[in-house]
Amino acid sequence: MADEFSPLEREIRQRVRVAGPMPIAEYMRLCLTHPQYGYYMNRDPLGARGDFITAPEISQMFGELIGVWLASVWQQQLGAPENVRLIELGPGRAAMLLDVLRAAKTVPGFQEALVLHLVEISPALRTVQEQRLEPLGLTVQWHSALEEVPAGPCLIIANEFIDALPVHQAVKQADGWHERVVAIAPDDTLVIGIASDPLPHFEATLPQGLRLSPDGSIYEWRADTTALEIGRRVRHDGVALIVDYGHAWYGLGETFQAVSGHAFTDPLRSSGEVDLTAHVDFAALAQSAESMGARVHGPIAQRDWLRRLGIDQRATALKAHVPYSKTIEIDQALSRLTASGPKGMGELCKAVAITDPKLDQLPGFES
Ligand code: SAH
Repeated sequence: MADEFSPLEREIRQRVRVAGPMPIAEYMRLCLTHPQYGYYMNRDPLGARGDFITAPEISQMFGELIGVWLASVWQQQLGAPENVRLIELGPGRAAMLLDVLRAAKTVPGFQEALVLHLVEISPALRTVQEQRLEPLGLTVQWHSALEEVPAGPCLIIANEFIDALPVHQAVKQADGWHERVVAIAPDDTLVIGIASDPLPHFEATLPQGLRLSPDGSIYEWRADTTALEIGRRVRHDGVALIVDYGHAWYGLGETFQAVSGHAFTDPLRSSGEVDLTAHVDFAALAQSAESMGARVHGPIAQRDWLRRLGIDQRATALKAHVPYSKTIEIDQALSRLTASGPKGMGELCKAVAITDPKLDQLPGFES
């Protein structure tokens, strides 16, 4: 009987029996980052053979454009400071970082000014990052959280990082909003339940437009401090660029989902063995960062942002030097990064920049 459950599911069931149903955020945190069985902790889940593929894994163009963007912001907006920390949150297989660093060489002095800090919780992915960055001979420091990175002028980048941070859910009922929790059903399976008592004073924390939502409405929020910490760090000589799946404005509905082998699956099955994500609420992210004194630019659809940075021209330039079969791959990658609809990343993925408030115009974010 016990063997039909993953080791983590056994542990989660034990915790629920002892301590009661757990918030979805706690379930998500355990599934992704439990020290022993967490999804990210001992595997490399990215790429065509993994569970999901990200923009930098689809094409070098993505990281290259970000590299040129960072170099230009460093030079034109920040005044080319020395010893600027390039901090990447959740670098995965370091694909984006390698492309960023290669493209950054086109601006004299930029690469030399960088001190690399990688915020990565997964020992397995740290090893991959170390191996792939080693040939560059640069000094790299790893950290488990952004709070650990020393202060100073910084460039922060994060692609598909925030969507992996735990998300809470509440459902509206006649007597208020109740947190959604992971519980054990009478037939012994894990199920989503709702906490018996409503969340105290929850309505007051909701965006105004959502306070009169109909019963049954679901609201998602992240309770971690990442957005606050990004805002705090960038407000003096800093810039953060965040690209992720998400919505530009507050909304209702659930986006908590599981992916395995490039297909959606049940988030409550195979705990710790499938990827769990939830969309980023860019309005909430912006509000947290602004509350710390930072300025927010965007969000803007990934398609529009990449076009403004010249992805079409970059694709044409790359195609000029490769055989025909490769040009088809480049076109497919371009389409995947910029297409609308559920299969493309062009609209659902968005870019937002969070900066020192003295920076008023940023490339690609012009209104
Ligand atoms: N940015 C990469 C990888 C995205 S996957 C890309 O675009 O290809 C998410 C990354 O964030 C992985 O490297 C994962 O190990 C890391 N990660 C997830 N949760 C984390 C946490 N709480 N703290 C630090 N890193 C985390």
